[in-house]
Amino acid sequence: MLKKVEIKKQIKPGEFLKFVPPRQKTELLRAVKKMRGKRVVHINATSVGGGVAELLQSLIPYLRSLGIQSDWYVIDPKAGSKFFTTTNKIHNALQGAAIKFSKSEWSNYERVNRLIAEDLEKIDCDVIVINDPQPLLSGFLAHRNKHKIYFSHIDTSSAYPRAWKKVEPIISSYHRIVFSNRDFVHGSLPKQRIKVFTPAIDPLAPKQTIVPKNKARAYLKKHGGIPINCPLIVQVSRFDIWKNPLGVIQAFRLVQQTYPEARLALVGFNEAKDNPAAEAVYKDIEAVAKKDPKSFLFFNPKGKNVSEFTVMAQNAADVMVQNSTKEGFGLVVSEAMWKRQPVIGGPASGVRAQVKNGKNGFIVKTPEQLAQKIIWMLRNPVAKKRMGETARRVVAEQFLFPRLLLDHLKLYQSCLR
Ligand code: UDP
Repeated sequence: MLKKVEIKKQIKPGEFLKFVPPRQKTELLRAVKKMRGKRVVHINATSVGGGVAELLQSLIPYLRSLGIQSDWYVIDPKAGSKFFTTTNKIHNALQGAAIKFSKSEWSNYERVNRLIAEDLEKIDCDVIVINDPQPLLSGFLAHRNKHKIYFSHIDTSSAYPRAWKKVEPIISSYHRIVFSNRDFVHGSLPKQRIKVFTPAIDPLAPKQTIVPKNKARAYLKKHGGIPINCPLIVQVSRFDIWKNPLGVIQAFRLVQQTYPEARLALVGFNEAKDNPAAEAVYKDIEAVAKKDPKSFLFFNPKGKNVSEFTVMAQNAADVMVQNSTKEGFGLVVSEAMWKRQPVIGGPASGVRAQVKNGKNGFIVKTPEQLAQKIIWMLRNPVAKKRMGETARRVVAEQFLFPRLLLDHLKLYQSCLR
């Protein structure tokens, strides 16, 4: 029921160590020494699509580059559609949706997880890391005497009580339970086992490419129709109410009173085949924005290279905005900051973790404040550049992959001790 993911990507430590602050580098190399000869196995639901798969695509080559044996397995699709439908329900119930699953659905979940556990037993390793609710139970069943870690990549703080009652004892059986945000931790979990790591971006991923601004603007003109010689304000995010695109449009209207030639780009490509929620939010925003030819909305990816376009938009912006009111982390913030863009962010906790008001960007709460800070950034290019350098440094120290790698190594060690 498990399939090994073959990862061809090979990296050399020098490629990423050059970005790491000296103290962190020493700590990282010390942690590596302690892990030599140990084998770590990661399990999740799928190798394509979604943030967890993207994270593991980077993490495994990083671990291997430092001589730590690590492998990645996913659930064989032959587990069947009933299993994946049920686990999707479990996922949503853990995030608070009032969803019930039937006895037969739960027994199917148990049956598939027993089969996963049988495969897991055959895999030789020192530490097992389960990354999704789909194989959660298998980690409980297999390798009773091994060190086990569960990564909860979702917000369980207000999980649906009926579902939580079933799942909580399974999660609590793990030696360590890791969240990406302290606000996501359910209050009933054993506190001494909880760890919180913020996510991080991979400096070696194509998404983090730095492109000269004039090249990026030329690209956006060619592929998005945005004129070149005018101030450009950008927000990159899914069309989601919590990302508050409407607030950005309201702020943009105010900015236009001072900078009538400015343009706004809301980049929120919809790659999921079926996402009625995003579609609905987009339609609402489009209805407001289409009265203004200076606002550009990007939703339908038709004919566009989404990741290339996104990278170009992040490099091209004169002012980068992330107006979220709710955000677990917001990778887009670190992605922009790594490209030396200070970010004007909304008051969401994930954004506040990255943006320090007045140092590497601003935190704003209203469209009026947002407009004021956008105008400030356009009027003060020298100060903005300085903030951009600070933004880059903050990412290098706190939100870059080597830091996450160090967190992982320390976590594995804390289990093995
Ligand atoms: N993204 C993208 N194009 C878009 C919108 C988003 O490539 O039009 C990417 C973005 O660069 C980031 C990820 O999708 O890597 C979104 O992650 P984030 O944590 O910011 O927000 P989420 O969508 O997970 O809430």
